[in-house]
Amino acid sequence: MNRIFSFLKSLLLIEMLQGMWLTLKYMFRPKYTLMYPVEKVPMSPRFRGIHALRRYPNGEERCIACKLCEAVCPALAITIDSERREDGTRRTTRYDIDLFKCIYCGFCEESCPVDSIVETHVHEYHFDRRGQNIVTKPQLLAIGDRLEAEIAERRAADAPYR
Ligand code: SF4
Ligand code: SF4
Repeated sequence: MNRIFSFLKSLLLIEMLQGMWLTLKYMFRPKYTLMYPVEKVPMSPRFRGIHALRRYPNGEERCIACKLCEAVCPALAITIDSERREDGTRRTTRYDIDLFKCIYCGFCEESCPVDSIVETHVHEYHFDRRGQNIVTKPQLLAIGDRLEAEIAERRAADAPYR
């Protein structure tokens, strides 16, 4: 019985007609296609794009060189060197992230006790020279300085769910 039904179905092209009906239905609905990059999809506050290092409002770096982010990074993408300053505090002298190794898991951000290393919403970047995949501390701080308002806003929006 099943074989007869299946034969009739293929003979009458029912599946093809169903497909064409679906196409016809969607032809008159609003389109889902976005005109990227002019139009963009909404982005979650938890989106994980390029990294940034943050500062406190007084300009002091947040990072205390505890190296938790370096230890937790599953891709071994973070390299940190540190030293003691004259005032007894510890700060990084080198903070590199290899973006070719990074898998954007967000573990570094989650592990940081002082909210220093974060991942921003910026995902549109490229490299055109060898070595640019290594993002250095001054670059990370510069990204943090530029995007601090947005970073703080996104973290505040996500705070009730943490
Ligand atoms: S996002 Fe994940 S892989 Fe990338 S640097 Fe942070 S911990 Fe490492
Ligand atoms: S970014 Fe955060 S977790 Fe990484 S070394 Fe600095 S303080 Fe520690």
